[in-house]
Amino acid sequence: MKKKKIIIVGNGFASLFLIQYFLTLPMFPFFAYFFRRLYSRYEITVIGNGQFVYFPALPEFITGKKNKKQITIDIRPFLRRRNIHFIDDVVTDIQDGGRTVISRNASYKNDVLFLGTGPAFLKNDIPGTEEHTFSPCDGPDAMEGFVSELEKFDSAIIYLGFKINKQDGFVAGRAGQMYESAGLLDHALKEKGIRDKFEIHFFSSNIDPDEKGAITDRLQERGLILDYGYEPVEFVKGGMLDQDGAFRKADLVLFSPGITGSELVHNSCLPVSKGGQIDVDKFGQAKGLQNVFAAGDCASHENPPPWVPHQAHMAQLRSQAAAKNIKALLNGKLPTHTYRHELSCIMNLENDAMWLHMFDDDKQPFWNIFPRRSKKLISVKNMFEKLYLYYLKYL
Ligand SMILES: Cc1cc2nc3c(=O)[nH]c(=O)nc-3n(C[C@H](O)[C@H](O)[C@H](O)COP(=O)(O)OP(=O)(O)OC[C@H]3O[C@@H](n4cnc5c(N)ncnc54)[C@H](O)[C@@H]3O)c2cc1C
Repeated sequence: MKKKKIIIVGNGFASLFLIQYFLTLPMFPFFAYFFRRLYSRYEITVIGNGQFVYFPALPEFITGKKNKKQITIDIRPFLRRRNIHFIDDVVTDIQDGGRTVISRNASYKNDVLFLGTGPAFLKNDIPGTEEHTFSPCDGPDAMEGFVSELEKFDSAIIYLGFKINKQDGFVAGRAGQMYESAGLLDHALKEKGIRDKFEIHFFSSNIDPDEKGAITDRLQERGLILDYGYEPVEFVKGGMLDQDGAFRKADLVLFSPGITGSELVHNSCLPVSKGGQIDVDKFGQAKGLQNVFAAGDCASHENPPPWVPHQAHMAQLRSQAAAKNIKALLNGKLPTHTYRHELSCIMNLENDAMWLHMFDDDKQPFWNIFPRRSKKLISVKNMFEKLYLYYLKYL
């Protein structure tokens, strides 16, 4: 029987979760390595850069607890153990309704295509974003750049903020990560004994100026200046410009623009949502195409609750459903598996932590065994990270 060709684009959370749920982890990984070479119904290929980045650890660069080397993994051995072919390349186009994938160096045919290509950011939304701000969303190098700039100051005005792309009706942006970065910045400066020399502002036009709640309380307890409702018209050298042209001094800006789809989404046969992402249905299928699936930060949702964010956790839930639906399709059945919407993450403030959680059913995270607010949650967050990185490195 001819093996079915599956192409997976990207090697981030969504793609690796898809592989995890598509090829169930065997009891004895060592034997599975040989078995998969002798017998496999599928020919799976991943096209990506081979480097997996554990993004949730990036804010901790500010406290010096994490660095690029610790959170970046060469994913090729993980793929080899699963008999998955890896191609180090960038996909530039998708044609024939998804059946042909064009990369910088070649073109590939497939029976099933999965896209886990992650986000692109609306950097042109506020002029000067690219030139005058740092963003944790740009990855470890950008975060290290922010930290090394920070180290040059013994007093400064620092602004942290985010913007959300709401066109698809959900949170296509990074709010929680920016709150966490703000809390960790406060802590790092206190540890150095120079907090009183720094003004830390938190801004976002997506936050109501009268916003109240646990996160606001945490920021206020730390003496942050809350510029809720504020958005500059432009980032410029040494600061930003307000609507009325007034200049605001900012020695450093850490800013996360709204999320949209990448060039690939816009320049291929993929369906595009209002917000610029891959338009998928509740089964994770690209609308109007056959055997093309997408999950994670590159894909919109069908009828999402307005609070649902792009998260590694959501990528997991979506990829799990996509893996089941791909299996169904390959067995001649219709896709029937949908996914839950759930916001779940631990906000590490170094001397405190909160479990942020929202869901569209009544399923509590981990049977509610963890407290919603406790410094001990930091160990839980670190444990999740260690376990996942161990799984990628060794299993
Ligand atoms: C600072 C920060 C903190 C975060 N904290 C949390 C947290 O605590 N909890 C949580 O659940 N989520 C968190 N997130 C969000 C989480 O990291 C993302 O939701 C997750 O990475 C999305 O996974 P993805 O696979 O869709 O995209 P990514 O992880 O970005 O992976 C995309 C992959 O696609 C590849 N790619 C892109 N374009 C192409 C192309 N054309 N050809 C080939 N390959 C391509 C990339 O190289 C990459 O391998 C955080 C994010 C940031 C930035």
